[in-house]
Amino acid sequence: MSDNRLIWLNGNIVPVNEATINVLSPTSQFGANVFEGIRCYWDEEEQQLYSFKLEEHYKRLKNSMKMFRMEDKYTIDELKKGLIDIVLANNYREDIAVRQTVFIDGFGSWMSKGPISMFIAPIAKSRSDIEKKTGMKCCISSWERISDRNLSPKVKVGANYINSRMAQMEALENGYDSAILLNNQGKISEGPGSCLFIVRDGKLITPPVTASILESITRDTIIELAKNEMEIEVIEREIDRTELYICDEVFLCGSAMEIGAVSNVDGIVVSNGEIGSITKKIHETYMKTVTGKLGNYRKWLTPIYV
Ligand code: PMP
Repeated sequence: MSDNRLIWLNGNIVPVNEATINVLSPTSQFGANVFEGIRCYWDEEEQQLYSFKLEEHYKRLKNSMKMFRMEDKYTIDELKKGLIDIVLANNYREDIAVRQTVFIDGFGSWMSKGPISMFIAPIAKSRSDIEKKTGMKCCISSWERISDRNLSPKVKVGANYINSRMAQMEALENGYDSAILLNNQGKISEGPGSCLFIVRDGKLITPPVTASILESITRDTIIELAKNEMEIEVIEREIDRTELYICDEVFLCGSAMEIGAVSNVDGIVVSNGEIGSITKKIHETYMKTVTGKLGNYRKWLTPIYV
């Protein structure tokens, strides 16, 4: 299926091999693009595909465009319609991930403001099953997370992922599954493509949005679910590196990853090395939420087939 996918490109629906861009465009040369990674979950009973937190993704996409000084070209309704149209054109009846990217097209330079183009690319991606997973082994990266004074982590711009790439490549080459980056204050920030939580004495702790992190939609969802559905206290505060060695649980989260347990940091086993009970409970509650099984949160879902 993935090779025959249809892609939305500037209002046209085209086979993936025909969805091409100019090699000289600033997106191609300098990573001048902002994007979102959006999940949609298939409901077999209802024969319906539900996208999760579309409004929040488009709000962040527009914020990225504003910070990146792109013209505010698309309305939320246009952004949403493009996604729905391309998913319908592909007739997906399974879990998918959608990449929606607004980019600087044309023949300009790294400082061009336009012309602005957009593509929307869905791909099949099934949901995670925590029972089948083992925790990841992570290292603290020798690479520092980008900061708001150089490349803001709040802008979800393609070029930011060079920082993620350096950290992830180093981690893999050294035998780890992934990396956790420190910010320019030496405090924990996030993973290469995910936010981080730890559990200490039954409390959930996560770095604040000013700790050089992306303002993650999954992080916000987990904070709300923990407080309102699970009666777990959530604390947003700086986290020291060594707290990862002595805490009870560590997990990473993101739209693509969902919840990913971390069982080892820098070669030090987290608790007994098993996936912790709070991480499991959060995974379960999160998956129920994104698949519409928690009535209170169906407001976060948008049906695709109407
Ligand atoms: N941090 C980074 C650097 C990311 O790329 C992502 C994935 N978009 C996240 C955190 C998680 O963000 P979200 O929960 O909105 O997917």
